[in-house]
Amino acid sequence: TRLVIGLTGGIGSGKTAASDYFATLNICIVDADIEARAVVKAGTDTLAKISEHFGPGSLNPDGSLNRSWLRDRIFQHPEERRWLESVTHPAIRQRIIDKLADSDSPYSILVSPLLFESGQNQLTDRVLLIDVPEALQIERTMMRDQSNSEGVKAILKAQMTRDERRKKADDIIVNNRDLTYLQSECLKAHHHYLKLAEQHTK
Ligand code: ATP
Repeated sequence: TRLVIGLTGGIGSGKTAASDYFATLNICIVDADIEARAVVKAGTDTLAKISEHFGPGSLNPDGSLNRSWLRDRIFQHPEERRWLESVTHPAIRQRIIDKLADSDSPYSILVSPLLFESGQNQLTDRVLLIDVPEALQIERTMMRDQSNSEGVKAILKAQMTRDERRKKADDIIVNNRDLTYLQSECLKAHHHYLKLAEQHTK
């Protein structure tokens, strides 16, 4: 099997900016968020299980998942969150495994904001953290989402702390300068990963 690099970081840390750059280097990117949305698309087994469990209120009139309804529901009922995750997580994991198996680049990248929290790091050989000081993280996220600092701070509080992530990561890029700098750091990592990929397949 090929080398898989996990790419993670907090909200607004620059995961997308980094993975977009790796994509220009022809590295196959698997995005856990995209796969998480795909498993609950209309017509999937997972969506059928969810609507059976939660009832018709969990669906929009067009048959798609009513995300805001579900979010409220699991926010108020932790045991329902656990049930939901017991159904969605294995399905997401399987899709990620299939996508990674399809990769034809020397190594692949699994991008996931909750790489450690979800246990998806078990699907990777090595983890690259895009790390950013909290003040900058808040500033960039507010700019991007046109949101206020309260909203961003609430999300930060719910996520793993910067220190915890730094302890678990193998490689760290501090994204505290401009995009050119981020890309040059990603390019250095890329060369390192190409070398590791060679050893990996031996
Ligand atoms: P999320 O988890 O919220 O999806 P993310 O980790 O994917 O976030 P990005 O969307 O890549 O983060 O970056 C957040 C915002 O900061 C974006 O608007 C991005 O263009 C900007 N940004 C990222 N890195 C830099 C940088 N080095 N200099 C300036 N702006 C940056």
